[in-house]
Amino acid sequence: MRIGIDLGGTKIEGVVLGHDGSELQRKRVETRQSEGYRAILNTIVRLIGDLEAKVGEQCSIGIGTPGAISAVTGTMKNSNTTCMNGRPLLDDLKVLLDRPLRIANDANCFALSEALDGAGNGCAVVFGVIIGTGVGGGVVINGKLHQGHQHIGGEWGHNILEQDGPACYCGRKGCVETLISGPGLAADFHRHGGDRSLIASDIVSIAEQGNDLAEAAMQRFLERFGRAMAMVVNILDPDMIVLGGGLSNIDRLYTEGREQVARYTFNDEFITPILKNVHGDSSGVRGAAQLWCCNET
Ligand SMILES: [Zn+2]
Repeated sequence: MRIGIDLGGTKIEGVVLGHDGSELQRKRVETRQSEGYRAILNTIVRLIGDLEAKVGEQCSIGIGTPGAISAVTGTMKNSNTTCMNGRPLLDDLKVLLDRPLRIANDANCFALSEALDGAGNGCAVVFGVIIGTGVGGGVVINGKLHQGHQHIGGEWGHNILEQDGPACYCGRKGCVETLISGPGLAADFHRHGGDRSLIASDIVSIAEQGNDLAEAAMQRFLERFGRAMAMVVNILDPDMIVLGGGLSNIDRLYTEGREQVARYTFNDEFITPILKNVHGDSSGVRGAAQLWCCNET
């Protein structure tokens, strides 16, 4: 059996998947970042112990988390659980759990889950995209995650879309994430005179009700989505694009958004399906478990 752990800034969730991919157990605990790195390690070890006690066997373990393991130092970087950064999370857990372990970025886990038994099931090359508070992605080729030489494969959220665009936390300007994430859509609406108390989901609804300012923001959003996505399609040409994250609930992405991708892609007969995820919030934790194939351990 396989355990997947979704290690987030506020909660740590674990599942046990059976050999057929069915979910046998699930448990969620608080991360309690304030107690520090060692305490989080102990929480993870206890959670795994509890799950294994319930299923009665030792499982393989995969962990999905924001950020990445540095290909240079082997330590965590870019994690929003900031006490993880600079720490050898993988090596420390290997020692505590006395077995091999796999760790991947949470967007990569989303992509893997959707490619293996979600919306992208059966497709050779899947680009899984998260559009929510941030923008991330992952590439799965023939059922295997393509993490890349520097572990940044699929990180299209920090491609520069507009040279003079909004400042991004990464130090650049006009990254895809600053324009088509939830906060990015809201900030664009606010810059163009929209009500500052409205967030992305409000803007989507009032655009549907005929609000002109919101509709103009949606048009810019859909056009930017197309331009950003076409950069990836022109290089990777995936068989399927699967969307996740809060903004994947915007129906217009699958119609008008897709038309915009087609408009910017170097192909006058664009055929790539863009589908909504199947596993929803479970994609991350399922994908973490699936870092190990079902015939391993
Ligand atoms: Zn950026």
